[in-house]
Parts: sequence; structure tokens; C-alpha cells
Amino acid sequence: MADKRDYKSTMNLPGTEFPMRANLSAREPEWLKFWDEMDIYRLSLEANAGAEPFVLHDGPPYANGHIHMGTAYNKVLKDLIVKYKSMRGYYAPYVPGWDCHGQPIEHQVEKNLGPEKMAAIGQAKVRELCRDYALKFVDVQREEFKRLGVRGNWDDPYLTLKPAYEAGNVKIFKKMFLDGAIYKGAKPIHWCIRCHTALAEAEIEYGDETSDSIYVAFRFTDATPWDAEGAVSVLIWTTTPWTLPANVAVTLAGEADYVGVKLADGRVLVMAEALVEEVAVAAGWDAYEVVGPRVKGSALSGVHYAQPVHEGVQGVIITGDHVELSTGTGAVHTAPGHGEEDYLVGRTFGLPTSMPVLDDGTFDVGGGPFVGLSVWDANPKIIEWLRERGTLVAATKISHSYPHCWRCKQPVIFRATEQWFVSMERTGLRENAMRAIGEVQWIPGWSVNRISAMVGDRPDWCISRQRAWGVPVPVFTCSKCGETVATAKTFDAVIALFETEGADAWFTRQPHEYLPADTVCPRCAAGVDDLKPEDDIVDVWWESGVSHTSVLEARDELNRPAELYLEGSDQHRGWFQSSLLTSVGAYGVAPFKSVLTHGFIVDGDGRKMSKSLGNTISPLDVIADSGADIVRLWVASADYGQDVNVSSEILDRTAEAYRRIRNTFRFLLSNLADFDPSMSVAWDDMPELDRFALVQLADLTDRVTASYDEWKFHQVFHAVHGYCVTELSSFYLDVVKDRLYADGADSRARRSAQTVLAKVLLTLVRLIAPVLTFTTEEVWQFMPAALSAGVPSVQLAGWPCTDVPRAEADELREAYGVVLEVREGATKSLEAARTAGLVGKSQEARLIVHAPADVCATLEARGAVALAEMFIVADVSLSPARGDFSVEVGRTDGEKCPRCWNWRELTADGLCQRCSGVVAELH
Ligand SMILES: [Zn+2]
Ligand SMILES: [Zn+2]
Ligand SMILES: [Zn+2]
Repeated sequence: MADKRDYKSTMNLPGTEFPMRANLSAREPEWLKFWDEMDIYRLSLEANAGAEPFVLHDGPPYANGHIHMGTAYNKVLKDLIVKYKSMRGYYAPYVPGWDCHGQPIEHQVEKNLGPEKMAAIGQAKVRELCRDYALKFVDVQREEFKRLGVRGNWDDPYLTLKPAYEAGNVKIFKKMFLDGAIYKGAKPIHWCIRCHTALAEAEIEYGDETSDSIYVAFRFTDATPWDAEGAVSVLIWTTTPWTLPANVAVTLAGEADYVGVKLADGRVLVMAEALVEEVAVAAGWDAYEVVGPRVKGSALSGVHYAQPVHEGVQGVIITGDHVELSTGTGAVHTAPGHGEEDYLVGRTFGLPTSMPVLDDGTFDVGGGPFVGLSVWDANPKIIEWLRERGTLVAATKISHSYPHCWRCKQPVIFRATEQWFVSMERTGLRENAMRAIGEVQWIPGWSVNRISAMVGDRPDWCISRQRAWGVPVPVFTCSKCGETVATAKTFDAVIALFETEGADAWFTRQPHEYLPADTVCPRCAAGVDDLKPEDDIVDVWWESGVSHTSVLEARDELNRPAELYLEGSDQHRGWFQSSLLTSVGAYGVAPFKSVLTHGFIVDGDGRKMSKSLGNTISPLDVIADSGADIVRLWVASADYGQDVNVSSEILDRTAEAYRRIRNTFRFLLSNLADFDPSMSVAWDDMPELDRFALVQLADLTDRVTASYDEWKFHQVFHAVHGYCVTELSSFYLDVVKDRLYADGADSRARRSAQTVLAKVLLTLVRLIAPVLTFTTEEVWQFMPAALSAGVPSVQLAGWPCTDVPRAEADELREAYGVVLEVREGATKSLEAARTAGLVGKSQEARLIVHAPADVCATLEARGAVALAEMFIVADVSLSPARGDFSVEVGRTDGEKCPRCWNWRELTADGLCQRCSGVVAELH
């Protein structure tokens, strides 16, 4: 009998140059060059010129340091969306941006220079160094983002330090200032005494801190209902002894009951009745007596007491809604210069905002005996001082959550300073922003609650910063009378100045050089020479927030509002909110139609990545080791609705999934070398199995497209990976191998399978192209030219469509649902038969399927030959039976065909009938 080797030349052996080994880290840079040379970004826009736009507006990363897993994740997600939309035919420009101003860069420059040099050089020089620093990291990150395969206008990104961008800040400031939304006020704000600056809420980190916890008696100087019992004081509790010099009032809950507590030494302390027992425990009182009368807090309103630090000064009892009866004494020490609630209640009662603490955290003369001390050093001294005077009732320590500066990590204080604010109320900004939030699509859906709560609760927005590296608050102060000078004309002059020379000019030019000559102070009529430009700069969140104007509005290819903003969920406090508030403030509408937020990157155990834990993974290392497509596949595979895990195990699994997908592409390519679309077999002429394969492909396409449309990329990944493994590798490709290799090269059966393979290839490569941007390009370039049809890049290939006849598809799904179920049972039975030594290969087996009549009928309708092909056995027979189906395995009576290794009845020439015919035709 002839050996199979003799028939090798008669078989259609697969072949492709497409490499099995991906070697992505070496090959990806070649594809980057390929795209660069064809100018893929421009081509992708030109291809969809005039089509419906889809603008994903890039949130600017900070131009500092290298990219990390979080920034890589964010940029790749954006790229998936932009490429998908572009392939769907949308005009989808992507203009990347960078946030170039702000304290971290200034801080770094300061560190590099050292404090002496920093003090010696002027603001203009500092700004120059900051600019160099920022631009250096724009270049670094640009190369790193490009290496990830992210497509965009890298040659002309937006930078917040560009003159036109800087001018946009003034345009929005002008509108909101002239509307009355921006005001200057003294207000307690988070203040870092180390960095000498106000901090925004987004610049605050909360962490545990041990603080003093003291109870202090403030002696009444007016008559009280308890005077008959002894010397009466009101008892307060505080964790910030250093704020006592600024005390002006004690706030009680108006409707709560207050009583006197008589101590063993005869002193009477007034506090909320509900808290007496708790205070007694905290203060360690052995014996005390509650003495009458019981009065409402409101009954004590207006009663005076001796200020605890300043001799001869009185404070006053007031009432407020913020007094809690869960901790403390129900009598709240109130210093409007040092707390938000204190400030608000103080404003209601017309109290002064006493502020004895300087920029550096030391007391001025308002600190009384503690003048010159820093607030932290003053704490123990104040406690000791109170103890000596007999007004300290108890002192302990507590550990609690306390705000810290995001840069220097030091605890911050609340301190009233002159600042510029955006009012949430004066022009109805809060109300309008809440309405705008309701008009935006928030993804995931729950994130609308987060942004609503944040905007609903937030205090007025403090937008001034006492720093050098940024865009100035674009107003002037009259040096004669202190009036703020800011009119439509001065703003327009500043806009023109910034557009031509950038914001640097603010610090190098004199106002008379660029303001209209007739500019005067509205209060004292002083002229332009007496106007002083504001020293403060605006909050960087304001700056990045106005990108809707400086970028979306300014660039021809973009539009405002954008279709989508996409950032990490921390941006509900940051960029989403500053963009929303400036846009609603200036235009009355949100700058985005939808907002997608993703979780943070954490390690395999859900821990935050940190150098100290040693669990950080750099995307640059992953690219160097495995390739950017592995990073991209990991991005797609993760559910961004929660925190996103990454670890080397997760990346290994990702690489394994990648190999399955790559091998599928390789199989498809290797069987299409001799195929041309003109050889395609029509639907009606195809074997049924091939038609079903096309139904499965259509179902995949619908599923994947729907998942992209819902931005559910992990479903895209699972659908494509699952399809490669299950539908293709374990079924269709497994079955049609025989036809592809052994049928006549130009036979209808083989051309039909190739028709399916070509359709699968052209579909699959495009479905996963937004994710595996490098690999799909490689596939595209290795495809027979007739299939890629002159389209120079997969990115320009458009989106696959599904076109199977609906009614027939339904029938096939139902019938093959049965086939696949029985096939799974058969596989198990065959496995058992192999283990028992009954058969070697499945081709030697004959199956008897015992199954209910309807199952038998469905199987029979496929035809005996098709059944044997699909089960990859010699023969399948059917036997009607009750109950569940079972598959019986036996040995075939046939013989092994030496050409195709199927077991069949052999013909006179020793081959199976099919092979006999094929070989005969070759001679
Ligand atoms: Zn600080
Ligand atoms: Zn004036
Ligand atoms: Zn054969």
C-alpha cells in the first residue's frame, strides 16, 4: 500500500509568510514607520471627510514624568474608540493635549535649582525653566504614547502653554466675570503653610493624623440661668487648639437642650444634655451633678463670654444648623477665618473673620501671647497656657482623617485669605450645572450620582493660586485706591496680548503698553499707569477646563460640545467638573455629550500600585518584553467599570489569548494563498456547514459591533477570543481541514470553504483592528492582494457588515444547536473509547447516536456525508431512543485511505472515492 508521503504533492498544503512568532517588540516599530510614511492620521480623516463627526476630546495628562499603566490605559481606550468610530465611517479627529502649567512642574524646577537660586532669579526666568521642563516631557510622553500605537495629530497637539490656549482662559474669565460669577473674597480655604499656597479640593489628600483633643471652659461674662450654682462657663471641644486665638463665637444647636454640669470644685459647665455622660467619661469626672434649669440653645443666643486667649475681649453665643449632637459638647468653638461652616455661620451673624495666621503658618499680633509661633508649635503652648489659667478641662489625643497637601504631604490648615472665587450661586451656576449634568450621558450609569453629588455640594470654586507657572488672573488693581479694574475692553486687550505673545507678556510688559490709553479706575479715575496686574495665577483645573474653548472651539476639525470625554473616575472632581463649570458658566451648556469614566489601575490583589509595595508595572517594560499589542489587548479585556487589575500573571494570560487569536489569523492566511474573490462560491451553492459558519460569523459581528457601541470592550475581547477558540478552532476549521487539504484545489467544496475563510478573515481582522492595531496591520499586509483590494491599511478598511438571509439563518442556528450538542457528547464518548484502546484516531470510529426522534430527524436532515465530516469520523448512524441522547462508539469496517487518512471503503486504486477522483484528475 502506498505511503501517504507519496500523495503529499497531490494535497493542497497550507502556506503563508505570516510568522507564527509575533516578535511584536521588534516588529511594531516598523508598522509605526509604515503609518508615519503614509500619514495614516490624515488619510483616516480624508476617508471620512464630510461624514458625521465624532470628537473624542483628549483630557490633557500632566507633562511630567514618563507614562505609567494608568495613562497608557486611558490613551489606549481612547484610541480604541477613535479607531472604531473612524472605521464605522465617522469623521473622528483626535487631537492629543498636555497640561503644561501648574505647581508640580514649578516644584520640580524649584527642586532642581535649589532655594537660593530660585529666590535670585525672576519670575520670567522661572517661567522659562518651567516651559523647558514641560516641553521636554511633552516630547517624552508623545513618543511613548505613539509607541502604544495611538493614532492622532501628534505633530500639532494642544498644549496649555501655547499663546492661543492661554488666551482662551481670558475669554472664559471675561464672560464669567462680567456676568458677576467671579468675585474676590476673604474666605477660609485649604492652605499649605509649607508651599505657601491655597489648595483646591482636588489637591487635598486625606490621611490619618494624631491631633490634640481638648475641652475648654469659656467663662460667661453675662448673666446665665445657672448663676445661683456657681461660676458658669460654656464648655467647648476642639482638635485645633491653634484656632482659639481666632475664636469669636460659640455656636449652639438652637433646638437642643442645654444644662449646667456642676463639678466637684463647684464650677458649672454648660453643654448639651445629650452629651453629658460622654463628656464625663472623656474628661474623667468622678463626681458631677447636672443642675437646672434645662434651656434650649436658642435661649442662650446673644449671651457673651470671655474670649479664651485675648484678655478683655468678648465672644458671643450664636446658634447654627451644623452643630452635631453626636460628638463634642454641643457647643462649637467658632473661628470664621479657619473653617468653612464657621465662615458661613459667621456671615449669617455678621461676625468678623479674624485671621491671625500668616502665609507661613506663624501668628501675627492677633495670636496674642503666641505671636511669632507656627501653629503646630503653638498647639502644646496654648494647651499649657489654658491649663495654667484653669480653663483647660481635659486634654487627650485622637487619631482622625485630616487633609494633607498633595505635593508636600504635610497637613494643611484652613485659613482665610483674599482669593478669587467662582460663585456657585450668584449667576445660578450650580443650578445650571445640575441641569446640564442631566442632559449628558454618563458611562457607567452610576457615575451621574457621583458628579451630581460633587457639584451639588461643592463650595464656591477658589480659582486663584499664589504661584508663578500659569496663566494670570487677568485683572488689574488700582494702586491708588485698591479697586479691581476689569472691563470688556481690558479683557479684550489681554486676550489680544496673550494671543500674540502668550501669558509671559503679563509678567514682562507694563499695562500701559497693551491696555487702551483711556483705561481708568472706575472709583478714583486713576489712569492706566496706576494699574497693577494681578500677581495670582489661575487654578490649573480652570486652565485645563477651558479646553472646550481653547481647543474644541478654536480648531476647525473639532466641535463643541464634544461627543465624548473619557478619563479616570478621579476627574469627577477635576477636569470633568472644571470643564463643566467653565462651559456652563460661559455658554450655559455642558462641553460634552457623554462622559466615560474608568477605574484605577491596581495590582492582581487589588492594591494600589506603589514603588514601596514593589508592585508597579511599567507599560514601557511590557512593550519591550511582549509588545504594545499585549498592552492593548489587556486594556480591551478589562472591565473599566471597576478598578482594573494588572500583574505579570494577568499579562501572561493576555499573551496566551493573543497567541490563540494570532494562530487563527495564521491558519486563515495559510489556506487562502491560492484564493481570489472571483472564485467565491455563492450562498446557495455552499455546503450547509459553510452557510452555518457564515451565520456564526454574522452573529459575532453583530455582538462585537453592539459591544463597541456600548463601549464594552471586554465583551469585544471575550467575543473575539471565544469565537477563535470555540467556533473556529474547535469546530469549523477543524472540520474543513480535510476539504481544504484533500479535495480538488479548484473544487467547489474547497472554494466554498475558502470563501468562508476569506470572509472570516476580512471580518475578524477588522473587528479586532481597533484593539490589536499592530497585528491586524500585519495580517492585512500579508493578505493576498486580491483580498485587501488595494486598501493600503486595515485602519482604512471600514467596518464589516453582515448579510446572511435571516429566515434561513434562524433555521440553521436551531438545527446546528442540536448538531453541536450531540457533537460535544460524541467528543466525550470518543475520548473514552480512545482511552479504552477501542479506536486510535476519531477517523477510525463509527458512531451510533441514540437520541429522541426529533434529534435524529435533525441530524439526518444534514446528510450522512456531512455528519461524518462534522464529527470527523468514518460514519454516523442514528437510532431513535427515548430520553437523553447517548453516543455509542465502534470501529469502522472501512480502511484507512493513504492519502487523506480517513477511513472509508477504498476503491480499486487503494484510495477513498474522493481521493481517487482528485488524483485521477491531476494526471
Ligand atoms: Zn504643601
Ligand atoms: Zn482707583
Ligand atoms: Zn482519501
